[in-house]
Amino acid sequence: MSPTDGDASFETRCVHGAGAPDPVTGAVVPAISLASTFAQDGVGQQRGFEYSRSGNPTRAALERHLAGLEGAGHGFAFASGLAAEDAVLRLLAPGDGLLLSDDAYGGTFRLARQVHGPAGLVVRTTRLADVDAVVREWSDGTRLLWAETPTNPWLRIADIAALADVAHERGALLVVDNTFATPALQQPLALGADIVVHSTTKYLGGHSDVVGGFVATNDDEVAARIGFLQNAAGAVPGPFDCYLVHRGCRTLHLRMERHSTNAEAVASMLVDHPAVAEVRWPGLPDHPGHDVAARQMSGFGGMVSLRLRGGLDAALRLCEATEVFTLAESLGAVESLIEHPGRMTHSSVAGSENEVPDDLVRLSVGIEAVDDLVGDLEQALDRC
Ligand SMILES: *Cc1c(COP(=O)(O)O)cnc(C)c1O
Repeated sequence: MSPTDGDASFETRCVHGAGAPDPVTGAVVPAISLASTFAQDGVGQQRGFEYSRSGNPTRAALERHLAGLEGAGHGFAFASGLAAEDAVLRLLAPGDGLLLSDDAYGGTFRLARQVHGPAGLVVRTTRLADVDAVVREWSDGTRLLWAETPTNPWLRIADIAALADVAHERGALLVVDNTFATPALQQPLALGADIVVHSTTKYLGGHSDVVGGFVATNDDEVAARIGFLQNAAGAVPGPFDCYLVHRGCRTLHLRMERHSTNAEAVASMLVDHPAVAEVRWPGLPDHPGHDVAARQMSGFGGMVSLRLRGGLDAALRLCEATEVFTLAESLGAVESLIEHPGRMTHSSVAGSENEVPDDLVRLSVGIEAVDDLVGDLEQALDRC
């Protein structure tokens, strides 16, 4: 068995998936190839690369690696998660419809409504955790069904296989934003999705030191168009950023396991805490999406949201009272983060149907010692 084969286990592919050591130097990691242009052996005779917007060896290594982890034949790296999403939305023509989760990531919502909406995209939203609602709300002309699961910040679960059936029966494609679960916990293409998008800024990079995005697909036609758009619109990541995301992917399996077990301990403490009104984590048996999550995910991930009995004041105080959890936007890195979605990540959706309540706090549970994390939240909750 070759460790880079599709048949190798997921963990082995995380470590080895970018390919065998460099045939010339033996280097065991891909070189950071900074060249913007590549010498040609004759006019039009290039050795695989001609200009770094169109293709770059470090980017190619990341694309191969991450596509493999998603079980995709094609992968495309972008400068950010939103740049990746923008390329996918450009598959649509004016007048085409997009059906989006009503609690999609705020930036996705803003991109669809405020950038692609004026260009003619018909954007509608519904609760994708409710497959019947999706069927009910479906309108002719819907070409893309866009799911995020688990969602941000509610951690609602959409049934990927069921949504793929709904979309395919109606001639549409299913896109899954797999940022929260990552391919370590959830394989949307195997469940029937057509396109996977990522903010590699989060768990894939994993260390809060890079912004990036990714599109993976097994649909040759979609791949040809996304590849065209990657080059034609040019929202490509630099080689160093590609290297960092690739490096993050090599420990993805271990990190996701630890994020999940730490989040489980945090969620079970919060459930019993008198200051907490509600805990949202898909691993909790009474989470409304628990059964679907248990079926389609191999772990429940590191994101936990909670609502405070003390309302806005308690939520703000909690965010400022932790010592191990850092108050910051973003998520998915080794360090634990805490934030107030209403005033921070989701402030751009205030006043819309996506508005989040002001007693909600979101945790990105990191990979520190679990007792330190639980203890930190306990002392902070006691102070609010
Ligand atoms: C962060 C995020 C994005 C956007 O990605 P950027 O890298 O910030 O552009 C999209 N979807 C989800 C679920 C995210 O968390």
